[in-house]
Amino acid sequence: MKLIVGNFKMNLEYGEVIDYIDYFKEKAYSNVIFAPSYLYLSKFHDAKLTIASQDVSKFDKGAYTGDVGAFQLKSMGVEYSIVGHSERRNNYQEDSDINSKIFRLQEQGIIPIICIGETKEEKDNGLCLSVLKKEIKDALKNIDNDQVKNIIFAYEPIWAIGTGLIPQNSEIEEVISFIKKYVYDKYLFHVKVLYGGSVNNQNIGVLELIPNIDGYLVGGCSINQEKFDSLIQKVK
Ligand code: PEP
Repeated sequence: MKLIVGNFKMNLEYGEVIDYIDYFKEKAYSNVIFAPSYLYLSKFHDAKLTIASQDVSKFDKGAYTGDVGAFQLKSMGVEYSIVGHSERRNNYQEDSDINSKIFRLQEQGIIPIICIGETKEEKDNGLCLSVLKKEIKDALKNIDNDQVKNIIFAYEPIWAIGTGLIPQNSEIEEVISFIKKYVYDKYLFHVKVLYGGSVNNQNIGVLELIPNIDGYLVGGCSINQEKFDSLIQKVK
């Protein structure tokens, strides 16, 4: 069954979150993961919905004001964590922190969902695959081979996030094959690869024709419960 991860980013106030949870709590979708802001994670968990954090501290514990540690996420029932989202890479220059974040998550048995993707300029210059290769290599530096099986990648072309633009199916298929082969050749494990970037309940049918996709990371469309539900129901 394909995974569907809803990344709410910095959206929804408390009352909206309560309505949202009420809508989804009886649906019992076993393949859907919700990534609200940290402060709402426990509400989703209490409703028995599977949760992911949108980020994690690169530090272990202690004097890091504003950070949330992997051990704290674990103690709240968080099973997955998005790391290296392009918004964090760009807004907080986090590229070099991603590897440490993955270590923190793995110490706690939380599955990292590592976002990788190229800019439009990199794509136009034929650099897509080399950018992805570097992002994978940097993320997995010194990670044990047998830990790699507990990692999920999300291919998110930066130019497709929140823009309504999506690569051709054949391009997504090629990139996903590349990521899977690269990781298998190096670490001997098959990883799951999600696609993310402007996925919604209208275009999901076309994306569903891609044979090697393991699921979707959904931003904008996930914050509206009816639209997100309609998307979920179209995923096989
Ligand atoms: C995202 O933020 O991971 C994302 C894919 O956003 P959107 O679906 O809005 O493009």
